[in-house]
Amino acid sequence: MSTARKQGAPEVQAHRSCPSCRKGHLHEGTSERVFHPHGKALAVSLLTSICDQCGAEATSADQHDENLRRLAARKAHYGELLMGEEIHALRRRYGLTQQQASRIFGKGKIAFSRYESETTYPDESTSRLLALAIAKPETIKWLADKSGVNVPLWQERFGDEQRVKLRALTRPTAPAKKQRFDYHSPSDTPHAPAHWRSISQTKTQVVRTMTVATWVSEEMAA
Ligand SMILES: [Zn+2]
Repeated sequence: MSTARKQGAPEVQAHRSCPSCRKGHLHEGTSERVFHPHGKALAVSLLTSICDQCGAEATSADQHDENLRRLAARKAHYGELLMGEEIHALRRRYGLTQQQASRIFGKGKIAFSRYESETTYPDESTSRLLALAIAKPETIKWLADKSGVNVPLWQERFGDEQRVKLRALTRPTAPAKKQRFDYHSPSDTPHAPAHWRSISQTKTQVVRTMTVATWVSEEMAA
């Protein structure tokens, strides 16, 4: 019996029915998550939907997106401290378990579980080491080798880094002054048209589809 909707008659939009009990309806509510960076309580209000019959909670995609935004916004209060999600993301990026990550950073077995849930926060030197590992991926490999831990996704991730670096290196810093273009004339005239200097690369490509004669500009050929 869903009496809730009858009572709440003036509501414009019908509430979604509960996927858990299939009797009740979901109502928007909030739940609070409290973090303690630098020992100060920091509450983040998160959106959720609560069933009026069984009390089950569900989060819609929109609510989830908004919650992620609200959680990310708390970073302003962290300074050098990393948020649990950032530590979690670093660990998952390399396919490490919490135990492996704890060994790599020379911490106790449950340290990463506590960092990621923000039950405790890493001390200053560990925070810097974690930040270093995020900024310079080689750090992870170096620390892992020291502690005898295999980094499962190292090849995949390091390959990514190298490709990005290579792209940055091969990207021209300034446009080349002289470029060699092979011009193709729509007629069989064995010389370039008077306006050849103004032919853009795009236009050249269009002209190429009508190739009859070909020449290379000596001036442009470096
Ligand atoms: Zn329910």
